[in-house]
Amino acid sequence: TPVIGVLALQGDVREHATALAEADALARPVRRPEELDELDGLVIPGGESTTMSKLAVAFGLLGPLREKVREGLPVYGSCAGMIMLADKILDGRDDQETVGGIDMTVRRNAFGRQNDSFEAMLDVEGVEGGPVQGVFIRAPWVESVGAQVRVLATVPSGPAAGHIVAVRQDNRLATSFHPELTGDHRVHAMFTDMVRAAAR
Ligand code: GLN
Repeated sequence: TPVIGVLALQGDVREHATALAEADALARPVRRPEELDELDGLVIPGGESTTMSKLAVAFGLLGPLREKVREGLPVYGSCAGMIMLADKILDGRDDQETVGGIDMTVRRNAFGRQNDSFEAMLDVEGVEGGPVQGVFIRAPWVESVGAQVRVLATVPSGPAAGHIVAVRQDNRLATSFHPELTGDHRVHAMFTDMVRAAAR
């Protein structure tokens, strides 16, 4: 059984832990650098990326997180977690740091005031059994990706149609939306499979 950490500085840690447990992983909260050494994979939850960035610096986690991701630790970020995995961000705070690891530019709060929160059914490449309910809460979108990044989902219709909301690069997965809030654990199961494949 893969051991998957959930970065527990801020955000919806418990929801991810529950989703991971239902996807047959052992979930562990992570707050200290040493705790990163015992993991097969890591989830960076949704929440507020500016706060998460500040706390990661304050807890001495930013450097170790960057190093682990560079070394190939499989990682999944939802919403604020997607922002944390972006090599570049737009509309971030001036002092906002990211872990990086996915060659993409992510725009914070991209869907605008009117659509601060909305839902959409999404076809996600790699997830079988029909569309995934995408819950977007002051969500980012992916503005552009490098050649190594695979686009897994885009918004199908409406004013934001075509914008990228799920990506993968190697062992790194990111979604603008929050599958941890829906009770549908297929995205977490896909990540758990990625973690298992990497451990082999
Ligand atoms: N707007 C938040 C941020 O910029 C992300 C929101 C979320 O994770 N639901 O970090």
